[in-house]
Amino acid sequence: MDKKIDFLMDDAIRLIKESDNILIASHVQPDGDSIGSILALGMAIEKLKGKVRILKVDDIPSDYQFLPNIELIKEFDDENIDLFIALDCGDMERLGSGKKLALKAKQIVNIDHHITNDNFGDLNIVSPSSAATGELVYKIIKKMDVQIDKNIATCLYTAISTDTGSFMYSNTTYKTHLIVAELLKIGININDININIYQSRSMERTKLFLDSLDTLEILLDDKVAIVTTTQDMLESNDAKLEDTEGIISFVRDIDTVEVACLLKEIDESEVKVSIRSKKAIDVSKICNKFNGGGHIRAAGCTIYGSIKEAKKLILKEIEMAFR
Ligand code: 5GP
Ligand code: MN
Repeated sequence: MDKKIDFLMDDAIRLIKESDNILIASHVQPDGDSIGSILALGMAIEKLKGKVRILKVDDIPSDYQFLPNIELIKEFDDENIDLFIALDCGDMERLGSGKKLALKAKQIVNIDHHITNDNFGDLNIVSPSSAATGELVYKIIKKMDVQIDKNIATCLYTAISTDTGSFMYSNTTYKTHLIVAELLKIGININDININIYQSRSMERTKLFLDSLDTLEILLDDKVAIVTTTQDMLESNDAKLEDTEGIISFVRDIDTVEVACLLKEIDESEVKVSIRSKKAIDVSKICNKFNGGGHIRAAGCTIYGSIKEAKKLILKEIEMAFR
């Protein structure tokens, strides 16, 4: 971790120690890194100061309900906030309903690893070389001198494992493994955690997966794969948007594919887009064109239009990226 990040973390810890009303939050459509990170930091701050609040900005996917102290994530509308800590959030819009509380807070600390982060905080700890926000939270908790117990370690492991594709993606470094080695030393049960995260797919999700894969199109000399999940598919399978988890990685894993794209219909005039790549294409740049963002190999955006329109627009940008 570079010196600058180290100093910024000292500043953040000073703010945490000085502030009375602290609110922690992350992004809408939360993933393992965002939920694991807010819970881990929340538990650590609670140990340090006796109280903390973790804001619920969206429903928690079933995958993460097993995490310890998940019930700490709640809705709050108290506007008396001294310090707002945003984790894993590339920009303020990603906070959803949390944005209005962030704007009312005396100070915002923005802790993130997205390359597209727009530094919206008063203090910005943005480290694109970190595989997960969970790595940054691990480092802050160590610096705070709070002991990492099994509950905190379980949340950090979940954060790091999910954002690295189980330590497979190119963002994984030796530092990732050193951190995870420390977490294992604390005695977490990775078999239980991994069954909860990766081996508990519901039948509804499985059927949604099959329906979505049925829409698979392979384009641009087999280098691009695109799939769609519609509201009809969600309804007929009694599934939720969160149940699209896993579809895009399956499509990306086709041998010839460099860029995989999943179009998730929100309604007839809004589509949430997820993009992944393997080696060559920076998908964060593609999503940036639609006011989205993310990482080089995993990014997302929202396109306002029908599925057909969204497909046309995104494919045009993907095609340009190959030139
Ligand atoms: P996913 O496709 O799993 O929703 O997201 C992939 C990555 O892109 C994640 O790191 C996520 O935080 C980021 N991302 C997804 N959608 C958006 C968006 O609309 N705006 C920004 N800034 N980042 C996004
Ligand atoms: Mn993340």
